[in-house]
Amino acid sequence: MLMRQKTSKFLDKRFWLDLIMPNRCAVCNKILPWDKLCCDNCLEELPYIDKPLCEVCGKPDCICSNGIHYDRCFSIVWYNEQMRAPVVRFKNQSPGNFAMLFAEKLACKIRETDIPAIDVVTAVPMSRSSMKERGYNQAYELAASLAKQLGIEQVSDKILSKRNSRSAQHELSAEERKKVVEKLYYFSGKYDVKGKNILLCDDIITTGSTLDRCAEILKENGAAAVICAVAANTDKSKE
Ligand SMILES: [Zn+2]
Ligand SMILES: [Zn+2]
Repeated sequence: MLMRQKTSKFLDKRFWLDLIMPNRCAVCNKILPWDKLCCDNCLEELPYIDKPLCEVCGKPDCICSNGIHYDRCFSIVWYNEQMRAPVVRFKNQSPGNFAMLFAEKLACKIRETDIPAIDVVTAVPMSRSSMKERGYNQAYELAASLAKQLGIEQVSDKILSKRNSRSAQHELSAEERKKVVEKLYYFSGKYDVKGKNILLCDDIITTGSTLDRCAEILKENGAAAVICAVAANTDKSKE
C-alpha cells in the first residue's frame, strides 16, 4: 500500500510542479503542501451561500420575472471582500487550484440534483484581445475542471464567442449592461448544440445578464437545456 502511494505521488504532475513553483491556497495564497487546493482555514471560513436561492435563476432575489433563458444556476460562495483577491488571482494569475476547488464543490451540488444528463460543458467566452492579454479564460478553466469531476468527455470553448469591447461593464446599470451584453456575445457556429443539454460555466453571477445572454444564444440555436455553474454569487446584503 505504501509503495503504491509513493508511486502515485511521483507520477503526479502537481508534485513536480510544486518543486518549481510552490503550491498555494486558492483563497489566501499561502504556501501549501503540493496535494492540497486550499488551506484548512479558508476551507472552513469561505463565505458559503447560507440562504435559499431561487431554484431556477439561482439568485437570492429572484430575477425570473425578467424572462431568463437558462434553466438552473448553481453557485458556491458569496462574492464579498474575502473573495475579491482570490477571484482576481483566478482571472489573472493562477487558475488551477481555484478552478479545481470550486469544480469539486459544484460537482457535489450538481450530483445531488435531478438535472438532465449533460452533453457538453462550455464557458462564457472571452474576447480575443482579453485572451491575448491574460493568456487563458478562467471560466473555461472552471468548465474543464468541472467536466473532469462529473466525468463528462465533451468540453469546448468553441461554442460561443465574444467581441472585443472597451466598456467596463461593472460601471453600468443593470439596464445598460443588458444592452451592452446583447451585442457582445454570439454563436460561433463551430459546434452543433441542437437538442443538447449544456453546462455553462463562469466565475461569478452578478445581474445574471451575461449568463442569460449566452443561454439565449444557445437556446436560439437549438439547445435543449442550459444549466449554469459559477463559483460566486452576489447578494446586496453581503457586499
Ligand atoms: Zn487559505
Ligand atoms: Zn428566479
